[in-house]
Amino acid sequence: MTSTSCNRCHAETEIKIIHVADGNADQLHICLKDFPLRTCPEGHRQFVRPNFAAELLHHLTEEDEPGLPAGEEKGLIMKKYLCESCHAALEPKPDHTHTFSIDIELEDLQPFGVDLSMPVYKCSACGKEQLHSLKEVRKLTPAAMAHAFEDANIPPPPGVI
Ligand SMILES: [Zn+2]
Ligand SMILES: [Zn+2]
Repeated sequence: MTSTSCNRCHAETEIKIIHVADGNADQLHICLKDFPLRTCPEGHRQFVRPNFAAELLHHLTEEDEPGLPAGEEKGLIMKKYLCESCHAALEPKPDHTHTFSIDIELEDLQPFGVDLSMPVYKCSACGKEQLHSLKEVRKLTPAAMAHAFEDANIPPPPGVI
C-alpha cells in the first residue's frame, strides 16, 4: 500500500477537485473552493495526503487569520471587545456578516480558495469593521473545517474512531 492508495480498499486513487464544500461552527462559516482530494474507482474519498487537514488548519490559524481585522478581547466574565485601531469599544451588535476570501497554497498542490464568513462589528469611535477577536475565529476554525470535510464526504481515516 502506498500513500496514494485508497485507505479503505487499497485501490489506486486519483486526484479530484471539489468545487464547493461548506461547514459551520457557531458564527463561523467556512467554504472550501476547488480543493483537491483523492478518490478510488469505488468512490471512496480521502485527503490528498494524510496530513492535508493539519496543514490547512495550520495555514489558516497561523498565517491567514492573524491578518484579518479583529478587535481585542478584554475581560474574563464580562467580555468586551476593543477596536484594533483606536481601542474604543466595538458596537454591541454585529453590523453584517463579512466574507474574507483567502488563497491557500500548500506545497506541491494547486492553489485553492477558502472563504471565511463571520459577523463583523463596527468601532463606535472610528467606524472600522472587524471581527470580535482573533482568538474567537481561531477557536472555531477546526470544527468548521471538519464539517466542510464531512460535506465533501471525506470520512475520518479508518482506525481514527
Ligand atoms: Zn477505495
Ligand atoms: Zn476604532
